[in-house]
Amino acid sequence: MTYSSNEFDAKEVVGNDRKHVWHHLSQHKPYEETDPMVIVKGEGMRVWDAKGNEYLDAVSGAVWTVNVGYGRTEIADAVRDQLVTLNYFAQTAGNVPAAQFAEKLIEKMPGMSRVYYSNSGSEANEKVFKMVRQIAEKNYGGKKHKVLFRERDYHGTTITALSATGQFERKNQYGPFTPGFVEVPHCCEYRAQEGADLENYGVWAADQIEKVILAEGPDTVGCLCLEPITAGGGVIEPPQGYWDRVQEICKKYNVLLHIDEVVCGLGRTGKWFGYQHYGIKPDMVTMAKGVASGYAAISCTVTTEAVFDLFKEPEDGRMDYFRDISTFGGCTAGPAAALVNMQIIEDENLLDNVVEQGEYLRGRLNQLMEKYDVIGDVRGKGLFAGFELVKDRVTKEPVDESVSVQIGAHCMANGVIVGRTNRSFKEFNNTMCLSPALIATRADIDKIVDALDNALADVAPNS
Ligand code: PLP
Repeated sequence: MTYSSNEFDAKEVVGNDRKHVWHHLSQHKPYEETDPMVIVKGEGMRVWDAKGNEYLDAVSGAVWTVNVGYGRTEIADAVRDQLVTLNYFAQTAGNVPAAQFAEKLIEKMPGMSRVYYSNSGSEANEKVFKMVRQIAEKNYGGKKHKVLFRERDYHGTTITALSATGQFERKNQYGPFTPGFVEVPHCCEYRAQEGADLENYGVWAADQIEKVILAEGPDTVGCLCLEPITAGGGVIEPPQGYWDRVQEICKKYNVLLHIDEVVCGLGRTGKWFGYQHYGIKPDMVTMAKGVASGYAAISCTVTTEAVFDLFKEPEDGRMDYFRDISTFGGCTAGPAAALVNMQIIEDENLLDNVVEQGEYLRGRLNQLMEKYDVIGDVRGKGLFAGFELVKDRVTKEPVDESVSVQIGAHCMANGVIVGRTNRSFKEFNNTMCLSPALIATRADIDKIVDALDNALADVAPNS
């Protein structure tokens, strides 16, 4: 059999999709009532649906994934070559692209040393949680096993990754959760907690983590798990002073620092990794989406040599090594795609482009804020941006969800796909999100912001 996704009957495909495919994160009723969107082709920054409509994708595949853009034949060619040479062998043994990509990756991550392959962000994070528990068992009589996570951060879809997630919409109705996961307060300056020290909010917010550690008992806390910039929780960059204090606290209480780079990794913020903006020295880093830009499924859990050493087997310790396997962590397509993906970022100077276009994007969003009272705050770094919609700039009361839904629909009708937070934490479902591919040009940014401008003029004009 030969298969080509270029040959299809659009009506039949849409019909089959509606009848049989269970879409992710989608309400059932409207889905059955409306025509599902079926994406059939992508090229550069653009995608086309089955009806032939063209869209500028301002969110890299809806969820911050297609960092180097669509239609990269050089990645497809490398994957094809690798598949016909060796498609798979479990990671119990090595393979060529896995070894080569690990070396290139570690080059970009001074201080880090070991790469553990799996195939989704959730799974990469689960590896961290398992490592923390095993380290606790081996060294602290099982006691130092708790993982702290932050309100508004997301770490994945499995029950344990959700247990480490601070978003209401993702967690609601999926309990009971895995024990040993404890939430610390968010660090969104725009939404600073009552009683917070606003002069020194970064340090204040980090100090709240120390309070949780003390309340739980430092001898029970093994790891602090944080996004470098909160993504789906509203594009929140921790304020000045936060990371220095976080690292002091981790050192003081011997708590491992895990940074979840599933969204920020591989250039999204203008450096290879988000944590590299803040002088952070993590013990563990996870990454997924942009590692191969969606050309293959791959995720990595990267650790320091010191963490790796904790799993060295003593002579009588048959159970002491990391007893974990991910079947599809042995697929060679992932690292083959990741190698070319990384090469593209280097050859095309995409990190510089992200810095330049990111500044331009934020400048234009700030202009929108001057124009529309409904925008309360513009945030982000590199090609990773968000803005909050409020009923009133003084009270900061969030708009109803319908406003962000209408803005998204308006942009879509005008050929631009934008994102928004999705009832992630009950009241703050009011942030529009942008994460265009790292190849975005000034003209692309203009088209995205112009579409938002038109949408805001219709949906939320100043009164
Ligand atoms: N971590 C972060 C920060 C994410 O945003 C996501 C997904 O959006 C995940 C982890 C989970 O990744 P995956 O959907 O590949 O399991």
